[in-house]
Amino acid sequence: PCTDFDVAYFHSYAHVGIHEEMIKDRARTETYREAIMQHQSLIQGKVVVDVGCGTGILSIFCAQAGAKRVYAVDASDIAVQAKEVVKANGLSDKVIVLHGRVEDVEIDEEVDVIISEWMGYMLLYESMLGSVITARDRWLKPGGLILPSHATLYMAPISHPDRYSHSIDFWRNVYGIDMSAMMQLAKQCAFEEPSVESISGENVLTWPEVVKHIDCQTIKIQELDSVTARYKFKSMMRAPMHGFAFWFDVEFSGPASSPAKNISATSVGSGSSSMSPSGEGNQKKRTNPSDALVLSTSPEAPPTHWQQAIVYFYDPIDVEQDQLIEGSVTLSQSKENRRFMNIHLEYSSAGRSFVKESVMR
Ligand code: SAH
Repeated sequence: PCTDFDVAYFHSYAHVGIHEEMIKDRARTETYREAIMQHQSLIQGKVVVDVGCGTGILSIFCAQAGAKRVYAVDASDIAVQAKEVVKANGLSDKVIVLHGRVEDVEIDEEVDVIISEWMGYMLLYESMLGSVITARDRWLKPGGLILPSHATLYMAPISHPDRYSHSIDFWRNVYGIDMSAMMQLAKQCAFEEPSVESISGENVLTWPEVVKHIDCQTIKIQELDSVTARYKFKSMMRAPMHGFAFWFDVEFSGPASSPAKNISATSVGSGSSSMSPSGEGNQKKRTNPSDALVLSTSPEAPPTHWQQAIVYFYDPIDVEQDQLIEGSVTLSQSKENRRFMNIHLEYSSAGRSFVKESVMR
């Protein structure tokens, strides 16, 4: 059902700024274009659905790659502009803009390819993947191509003393006045919700762990209601730990029997295997068995508009080198608004245990 929350959600995509930000994110947009070109043999002469076409950019890339027909679907009013953009580029006979939700619009044929840029902060924020799954189950031919094909959410413990002192220690001495009475409130305000910001490899205390790996061909909507992962980190250094960072990557690979292999793939960015927690700047390419194209939002990859999502502790914990940090994280759709995400974090270290609840709104 289309709730008031969805109305507000789609309304937010009617503004130009959000599309400008996404399109100017070159790591994002160029990786998508490269993925489309790399799978050209599977797109040429084929029928494509672009789930959430926005301004129509990915639909047009697919038309340029030779698609026979592209259904460009968006529930936001940005679809009005998408239609004009398509027309101005002489593609109205190929790209059919449908202004509505993928859950509601009608397409009277099976499709060969689904393309979508559905990833939110912390990968799952916005819960848009469910709509890609709906499109897949409504229209995709068996063995059809889904771009991206896989997604992985990672987490790692971090130290970020500068951020902490900027927001909290600042109150210790303000124009010579002791305002440390403000510190409790400052912590509450700064760290209650997850924050989206850029950190660097130097902030990361050890190798990341996988929170969730998604195969877009097989994932079911119900699996996304709630995702729980247990983790166990061993800090590679002695440092005050300020919280956990989350980031993701998505992979663009063809169906198992895909003939797209003959086109040589270049890996971009870096996934988990190229993290250098010590920040020594080793920019090895992601070792990916299939050598598929990867869009990474890791702190060591070229920056993207997703940056990283950080869940800060209210108070740092001091960890020694080799100290274990273990616990679990649960990400679930908020009951209040399914576009929001609850983050339940349990962590313990050196015999002390903590729980932190937060909501990404
Ligand atoms: N593909 C564009 C825009 C991506 S942003 C680009 O790459 O630049 C995601 C878009 O998906 C938004 O415009 C949003 O309105 C749309 N969207 C999200 N859920 C949708 C749904 N269920 N049905 C139709 N459109 C949806």
